[in-house]
Amino acid sequence: MPLLFKKVKELRNFLKSKRCEGKEVGFVPTMGYLHEGHAELIKLARMQNDVVVVSIFVNPTQFGEGEDYDRYPRDLERDLELCERLGVDVVFAPDEKEMYPAGYRTRVCVGELGKVLEGAFRPGHFDGVATVVVKLFNIVQPDRAYFGEKDYQQLKIIQQVVQDLNVPVEIVPVPVVREKDGLAYSSRNVYLKPEERESARAIYRSFLLAEKMIKAGERDAERIKQAMKAFIERHPHVKAVDYVEITDENLKPKKRVEKGDRILVAVRVGNARLIDNWKVEA
Ligand code: AMP
Repeated sequence: MPLLFKKVKELRNFLKSKRCEGKEVGFVPTMGYLHEGHAELIKLARMQNDVVVVSIFVNPTQFGEGEDYDRYPRDLERDLELCERLGVDVVFAPDEKEMYPAGYRTRVCVGELGKVLEGAFRPGHFDGVATVVVKLFNIVQPDRAYFGEKDYQQLKIIQQVVQDLNVPVEIVPVPVVREKDGLAYSSRNVYLKPEERESARAIYRSFLLAEKMIKAGERDAERIKQAMKAFIERHPHVKAVDYVEITDENLKPKKRVEKGDRILVAVRVGNARLIDNWKVEA
């Protein structure tokens, strides 16, 4: 079993001794309820580092009012078993008081990049993400940290924060991991009822539709976005398409689509709000 630490001090003491031995530390921050997507990040961290630390913390400051903080799935026992199978050395699972003790005040403010796309629907979300990630970086002081492209905007924001605040860590991106049917792995997929699953799959299929249009010569972003939106909305359990956007790799909206651009989507299906994105290949 991996070592389990719940206190910052204990984790720091352990990692200090490892660093003294010249060991390199790889870090995978998560909110737990681990799945194959997380596993890819952990496997890469395992290959590239001497010590692998996984954090499991459902961070309250990145959830807005009325969001799913309370019902977010949690299963530490199962997570520890998966971490053991993947050769994780340390799991850091602090409680809320350990991360935000009484009197806690400071918040990282990420600016414009945090106000578009997801940020427009979840005000303050990325400030909460940046705050907890900077805290975790300061606690773990990793050489490398692993982030999934599944949360593409989050990845770009963390890269920006690390650059702006001179955080001495290498950010390693990992491509989206999908289930056999194309749905991106997410802890939130447990919210989907069996009959909603096919509607959730429409997101992936809308990326294939976009790829097909682009391959056939369509380069107009608006037309591609409209077609994707209409396609997704046709599915019975889709409550809303929050956005379909096409941007360059730095999240700047595009009018004409090129290879390497990103298509980003957020859709509400049943009780789940799903996000996904796709790198244009054609
Ligand atoms: P979460 O526990 O959802 O906060 O995710 C923790 C990390 O795992 C983040 O860097 C996510 O982007 C990444 N991740 C989650 N799902 C996937 C996936 N399906 N493919 C790749 N990375 C993922």
